[in-house]
Amino acid sequence: MFDIVIVGAGAAGIGAARRIAGTGRSVVVIEAGTHVGGRAHSVDVAGMALDLGCGWLHSGERNPWTAIADASGFTVDRSESAWREQYRDLGFAPADRKAASAAWETFQHRLETDPPASDCAADALEVGNPWNGYAEALSGYINGAGLARLSVADYLAYDAAASETNWRVREGYGTLVAASLPPVPLHLATPVTAIDHRGSTVRLDTRAGTIAARAAIVTVSTAMLAKGAIRFAPAIDDHLHAAANLPLGLADKLFFGLGHGHGLEPEKHLIGNPRTAETGSYYLMPFGRPLVEGFFGGAGAAMLEREGLAGAFAFAIEELAALLGSAIRARLRPIAGSAWCRTDHVGGSYSHALPGHAAARAMLCRPIDDRLFFAGEATHATDFSTAHGAYESGVRAADQALEALR
Ligand SMILES: Cc1cc2nc3c(=O)[nH]c(=O)nc-3n(C[C@H](O)[C@H](O)[C@H](O)COP(=O)(O)OP(=O)(O)OC[C@H]3O[C@@H](n4cnc5c(N)ncnc54)[C@H](O)[C@@H]3O)c2cc1C
Repeated sequence: MFDIVIVGAGAAGIGAARRIAGTGRSVVVIEAGTHVGGRAHSVDVAGMALDLGCGWLHSGERNPWTAIADASGFTVDRSESAWREQYRDLGFAPADRKAASAAWETFQHRLETDPPASDCAADALEVGNPWNGYAEALSGYINGAGLARLSVADYLAYDAAASETNWRVREGYGTLVAASLPPVPLHLATPVTAIDHRGSTVRLDTRAGTIAARAAIVTVSTAMLAKGAIRFAPAIDDHLHAAANLPLGLADKLFFGLGHGHGLEPEKHLIGNPRTAETGSYYLMPFGRPLVEGFFGGAGAAMLEREGLAGAFAFAIEELAALLGSAIRARLRPIAGSAWCRTDHVGGSYSHALPGHAAARAMLCRPIDDRLFFAGEATHATDFSTAHGAYESGVRAADQALEALR
């Protein structure tokens, strides 16, 4: 019998555990997967930490992970990202970049000042604008989804709260998140299959047996909630309905090692084809390492997941060769990639609200009977879709649970 059970050891579960540890309340973390961190996941390749999930400390100056990183000896790189540049103007001339940015600014202004009654972001696109494909590509990277599936109100809530500061952790964002779990009991590879909060305690079924607690904090993704990976008794239909209206969009990464003679420069950026959503955003030599990091969102990521990893790498090589010349093919060595839609216990990348459903976030984070609490990036009112939003949601849910137990 514990005071509090935390379901999920991602950024939200870790935020909750850090808040509870040291309060005198007993706590246990139950994680379905085999690693701590969830969508914050760094893999080590030849001594380089590659982030398959979150990589950027968005809103860096107020991001709680920045302070945690500084306090625990991690290296925060505070240099500006190269996203706005196009390396050597390849395939995206300055005049086109100016026109594409202006089209995006106009679109964004329309969302803010004259949002469509439908709350559907695609309805704010100017019909026939040549940069609509660019807007779809940006939406894919930012929201993990195309504009037709995006709530304007939800998008603007994030946009208004976020700053322009994007920093990185040299040792990996996933490494930082995983290292930040305090020394509390942890069970890995233990999916919770049912949660029963009838009576005065909460009972959680796992393959390893049943755990009882006075309160539970559920941090699993909206994809897992909506597909019924956990059976709740009594039913929590309003919460599951809210989760279904906050689906996980899709974003994926591909990493190439660079062979000798590649001729690239550190910390540069390339968009593959600025006129379509199905294109990669390539970061050349991040931290000066012999790497290219490809990032795909929305339709582009969905296409890659359909192709499988081999097809995804082949697509990226074609895009890079079209810009950098054919000689680059022999210098690009696929070393790691993600497929978040197919990743067990996660099922996607980050949440967005469907048109008309921005209020689902407030619904999803509503406690039930002072025993069941909800956290996870999708429950944050403004910083959803991020690792710091997830962390803050965990702290909020822990405070709610601690208050209920008092
Ligand atoms: C490709 C990609 C790039 C990203 N880039 C950034 C970025 O640059 N910056 C940023 O801030 N964010 C980024 N994100 C988003 C960020 O990673 C997530 O928003 C955040 O990590 C989510 O944390 P969470 O704790 O809410 O959920 P999760 O990380 O999904 O944690 C939930 C945990 O619950 C576990 N679980 C699921 N079901 C069960 C069950 N039945 N029983 C027990 N455990 C269960 C899961 O295994 C998981 O570990 C990115 C994500 C992706 C995929």
